Amino acid sequence: MIVYFREHELHTMNTHPENARRFEKLGALLERERVHTPEPAAEEQVLRVHTREHLRRIKALSEAEAWADADTYLTRHSYRTALLAAGGAVLAAQLAQKHGHAFALVRPPGHHATPERAMGFCLFNNIAIACAEMLAGGMKRVVVLDVDVHHGNGTQEVFYSSPEVLFISLHQHPLYPGTGMPEETGRGEGEGYTVNIPLPPGTGDADYLQALELALDIAVQHSPELVLVSAGYDTASQDPLGGMMLTSRCYAEIGRRLRRFPAVCFCLEGGYSSSALAAGVESTLSGIRGQSQEYEPGESTLDLSHVRRVLRNYWSA
Ligand SMILES: [Zn+2]
Repeated sequence: MIVYFREHELHTMNTHPENARRFEKLGALLERERVHTPEPAAEEQVLRVHTREHLRRIKALSEAEAWADADTYLTRHSYRTALLAAGGAVLAAQLAQKHGHAFALVRPPGHHATPERAMGFCLFNNIAIACAEMLAGGMKRVVVLDVDVHHGNGTQEVFYSSPEVLFISLHQHPLYPGTGMPEETGRGEGEGYTVNIPLPPGTGDADYLQALELALDIAVQHSPELVLVSAGYDTASQDPLGGMMLTSRCYAEIGRRLRRFPAVCFCLEGGYSSSALAAGVESTLSGIRGQSQEYEPGESTLDLSHVRRVLRNYWSA
């Protein structure tokens, strides 16, 4: 189940890494798969995550074709495109709940957008809006697993006080936006429900999969009804922005290991090599469908003892 809308092409800028050409190698996949087209997210859905002021500001910036910050451009179509991307995440979450898995191939991405701020190429936080929609529909336990190379600071902020949403992020550190230390664990009732696993530049498949296994061991303890995955492919070795070294086989293995959960919804985030993005999405789909072989890339030398020590305050880790 793929969610996609052609109008994403109207939010683009040739000189910017987050442009419509990111999707230029997805043609074969989109032709082969059953593709669902989303509706724009409703104001009410966006306002579960963002302030009314933020919604107004994005609309005004879009009309003015202005930048939200030094990294984040808008065209006059961006307001509608961003609402479609958020609506796409919502639709994919609903499809995943019904059919076991779904993938929202949407842009602009969302995981850096905070309740009141667009940043890092992100206007509305697509995955957070989808998550809030599922909670509003009666879900009690959701995991958001962020495997983009960058820390999902916006999503973390949205659910920082929520014990219903277990937010887990694997990301490169140091790297933009600089947040995502293991000691950021949540606030109030949400204490313990934020899990950050920073990884060094150069991280390859073996180390990444060891960190993923820790993340999934904790995710299982939350007994999620749905796992929402912020799927970034800027962890790929070919990616021009990230410094990790993941291969397509690793994405298949991530998908395969997620088969232990009842429902999994992938929402595209980053990924700035169009060929690595297309190969990564194909691999993820083959993994979640059980069409990939188990992959054991060899011995990991990554030391996760500090992360485990922090996590043991809340989870068996
Ligand atoms: Zn990213």
